[in-house]
Amino acid sequence: KTEVKLNQEGKVEVHWVCGGERGVYTADYLLAAIGRRPNVDKIGLENLNIELDERGVPKAHPLTMQTSIPHIFIAGDASNQLPLLHEASDQGKIAGDNAGLYPNIANGLRRSPLGVVFTNPQIAIVGLRYARVLERYKNPECVVIGEVSFHNQGRSRVMLVNKGHMRVYAEQGTGLFIGAEVVGPAAEHLAHLLAWAHQQKMTVPQMLDMPFYHPVIEEGLRTALRDVNSKLKLGEVHTECAECPGA
Ligand SMILES: Cc1cc2nc3c(=O)[nH]c(=O)nc-3n(C[C@H](O)[C@H](O)[C@H](O)COP(=O)(O)OP(=O)(O)OC[C@H]3O[C@@H](n4cnc5c(N)ncnc54)[C@H](O)[C@@H]3O)c2cc1C
Repeated sequence: KTEVKLNQEGKVEVHWVCGGERGVYTADYLLAAIGRRPNVDKIGLENLNIELDERGVPKAHPLTMQTSIPHIFIAGDASNQLPLLHEASDQGKIAGDNAGLYPNIANGLRRSPLGVVFTNPQIAIVGLRYARVLERYKNPECVVIGEVSFHNQGRSRVMLVNKGHMRVYAEQGTGLFIGAEVVGPAAEHLAHLLAWAHQQKMTVPQMLDMPFYHPVIEEGLRTALRDVNSKLKLGEVHTECAECPGA
């Protein structure tokens, strides 16, 4: 349990209690990364018989943005799907097109998931994050993980940004690239390369056939891909893997 107070010197005090122990941590600033909920208050949702999610936001089909009331569409952060600008923009186009063309609605383009956090080092996620990989693939043997540490990565060392780690996920048997998570230098750029590969449904061997310049941080990505590649048993499909839905 924690309680946050501002003390007389203007510093932040975090008072914590954990398993019978208690303490106070004092800091200059507090960064509260607690997320945000869609603002759908006071728009009269209570007057509609519309299906809501656990946050009280209308549920919508991700490809059409249609809610449970067929002629009502929702878009952007208000939809409580992926609160990112490019996603809001895509959703707005889909919802607008479908509202205009209703009742002849159609599926719109949803791109490969891509998220970047502009911290130092940066954090990025592409495709399926590990928790979703585990949900999607019931048997961990159906997934192969490749890794690289940026600690000893050439260009990162030269630029004194050699902190971080990357994990790349692929489907066993097919080698399909299904996702990646990275905390490290130039993560925003690595994530874009990976997102394009993901949307193109590339396999790890196909990605390794692409050019890599020297000396660049992308060589770190290549190391992670080579690591996955060395663990892939291409063409081999376990009976259990055949039951996995694929990415
Ligand atoms: C601090 C912060 C940093 C972010 N950084 C990034 C980032 O780096 N990259 C990224 O992709 N995304 C980022 N986002 C998310 C991005 O800003 C949102 O996903 C995007 O703005 C959503 O667009 P939207 O049109 O759905 O909603 P908004 O941009 O929030 O627009 C909604 C508009 O509706 C208005 N409104 C609300 N209620 C009513 C009402 N009842 N009547 C009339 N008008 C109303 C609001 O005033 C607002 O102008 C960030 C968000 C925050 C808060």
